Amino acid sequence: MKQSSESSELADLPLFAPKSVTPPPKSAGPSRWRKLTTWLPLLGLVLFLAGVAMLVPLGMDEPGVFLPPNRTLPTVVVDAGHGGHDGGAFRNGLREKDLALDTALRLERQLRARGFPVVLTRRDDTFVELFDRAQVANAIPRALFVSIHFNDNTTAAGDGVETFYATDKVAASSEGWSLAGMFKRRHEPPPADNGYAFAQCVQGAVVVGLDITDRGAKARDLAVVRYTRCAAVLVEGGFLNNPREAKKLAQPAYRERLATAIAEGVAAYQREREADAQVEKRTKS
Ligand SMILES: [Zn+2]
Repeated sequence: MKQSSESSELADLPLFAPKSVTPPPKSAGPSRWRKLTTWLPLLGLVLFLAGVAMLVPLGMDEPGVFLPPNRTLPTVVVDAGHGGHDGGAFRNGLREKDLALDTALRLERQLRARGFPVVLTRRDDTFVELFDRAQVANAIPRALFVSIHFNDNTTAAGDGVETFYATDKVAASSEGWSLAGMFKRRHEPPPADNGYAFAQCVQGAVVVGLDITDRGAKARDLAVVRYTRCAAVLVEGGFLNNPREAKKLAQPAYRERLATAIAEGVAAYQREREADAQVEKRTKS
């Protein structure tokens, strides 16, 4: 039925244009050009808007989920200990490298929720050299470094949490040459901030957050805290060889509490630094 009506409509259409229709002007050039000049800016605007629409999601790490990073805050380099062929401690069915990565990813989310830009030294089960982990932080102008580990004790079931900072930092390498190799760079002194105050803040927050034995903030020359130029800490988030602590650490909700507490510690340290900077500013002026 429909087909027949369509074909009848087609039949009504003239096969040739009636002679009365005026042909298009032969000199179509200028009018086409005028059309083009009208449409070009509009096309440019559309392309520009499309570009902006593509860039916005790239700039935000996870749109809609986290706050956009607050650029006044330092970048936190989160280092999940061990990885790949280096499993770390393996006790009570728990492997240190897995717990460290899981907690690091949780810490990343917690820090981003507080506006901190975050970089991870590893996001999967890969091995990264200790010096390379430190170098990740050293490549960032303003950074804080947090390494996540879990304890093991071969002699007895230890308990609690401890946070390490560097006894002293290693001076930046003096091997670099500059200005086409004419002058050797001046040997840079080691940074004054060995991470003591940072470790105090993180350790304090974790002890409160987990209601766990406080083993303290301790100075120890561990490579990742020693070779980082910025304030750096290494958190030992509990003993895998202690069945009671292992049972808790096996629970994702407990690891979330640990990550939340570490993030609180980072935020507390940052607030402390900002307050110190304000005092310094006032005393100078
Ligand atoms: Zn470890």
